Amino acid sequence: MRRAAEAEIWSYDGHSTPREEVSVSPSRTDPQVLASAGAILTVDLAALRSNYLWLAGRAAPARCAAVVKADAYGLGASVAAPAFYEAGCRAFFVAHLSEGLDLRPMLPDDATIHILNGLQPGAEPACAAAGLVPVLNGFEQVEAWARIGRQDGLRLPAVLQIDSGMSRLGLSPEEVESLATRPDLIEAIDVRLVMSHLACADEPDHPANAAQWQNFERLRALVPHAPLSLANSGGVLLDARFRYDLARPGIALYGVSPTPGVGEGLMPVLRLDARVIQVRQVAAGTAVGYGATFHAPYPMRVATIAVGYADGWPRHLSNRGAAFFDGTRLPIVGRVSMDSITLDVTPLPEGTLQLGSLVELIGPHQTLDDVAAQCGTIPYEILTGLGGRYARVYLHAGDRPVGS
Ligand SMILES: *Cc1c(COP(=O)(O)O)cnc(C)c1O
Repeated sequence: MRRAAEAEIWSYDGHSTPREEVSVSPSRTDPQVLASAGAILTVDLAALRSNYLWLAGRAAPARCAAVVKADAYGLGASVAAPAFYEAGCRAFFVAHLSEGLDLRPMLPDDATIHILNGLQPGAEPACAAAGLVPVLNGFEQVEAWARIGRQDGLRLPAVLQIDSGMSRLGLSPEEVESLATRPDLIEAIDVRLVMSHLACADEPDHPANAAQWQNFERLRALVPHAPLSLANSGGVLLDARFRYDLARPGIALYGVSPTPGVGEGLMPVLRLDARVIQVRQVAAGTAVGYGATFHAPYPMRVATIAVGYADGWPRHLSNRGAAFFDGTRLPIVGRVSMDSITLDVTPLPEGTLQLGSLVELIGPHQTLDDVAAQCGTIPYEILTGLGGRYARVYLHAGDRPVGS
């Protein structure tokens, strides 16, 4: 039953793992479903693989993991993780045990799945039984994991996380120091990785980066010798000393550069198109949408599209965001509703948009970065918020890339 202990877990030396073919062919969405869908989220699997390879190249000679928490940042872990596996990835990180349990059957046995948030008391047996590797974030978690292993005479694999200055997760410097005095405890666990997380990696000049690196250097020397990991996406793009043995990028895999102006090798991986469900002519002075916050200043044509804040399109973009059609900007007029948005389509010749036409919300004319900037947030939040109601299309190698 317990698969965790001796046999499995990735090794850091094998760049030449056999290229077992894994199926990443979720059936393309049924054409009828697509034709009637209110909106279509297209995910480019070739771009996901290409971004992984680009990051792995930047991280080398460190190995490169894939962070697929929050359903691969909203894009679908069941398809994204196998795509990364195909590109050579063998180490995966999710946040919750439940995410790890869901992901486990979707990846071959030589893929290791780590649980970033650690384990709740009592969750250890389920984690061990599934062969998942917890990130131990505190002294009590170390004790509990050692105890569970001892019960079965096993040294169970785990990651030790050290807090190097973010004060979020990981053993505090004091806990690391007390752990150093407890060889009984530390020897009861098979420490596969020692990691920490950077708070300011997206700001290359921030002094916190060097400070965290120094803390990590000091504290990791107090724990057993194991491969080390510090860099998220931003960290991969910092200087080489941050890379250590394993990089843990998330957002950059999904085509978003963590650091503005860097990451020119990353490809966009998604596009979002919304269906026009009504077009109407309104007279000057007509109110549009909830709260009557917009009045047509002149006779206008208004199109309603089938995406709203329930789909993760921020209500904050009421009267300020836009959609695009063939490169023409169509401003959002009125409030973003739960299930729909109203657009000023007067710039388009009459009849261009019809019932069933698709307009671009994310794509070549409007990136995730653009949308996030208009909302005063980060692309992570927009991406992970994209809802569950979209019809999803997965592009495979040979399909026209999503960014074109
Ligand atoms: C989310 C997360 C990552 C990935 O971060 P990105 O900024 O998306 O690259 C890496 N490590 C930890 C601990 C995380 O929580």
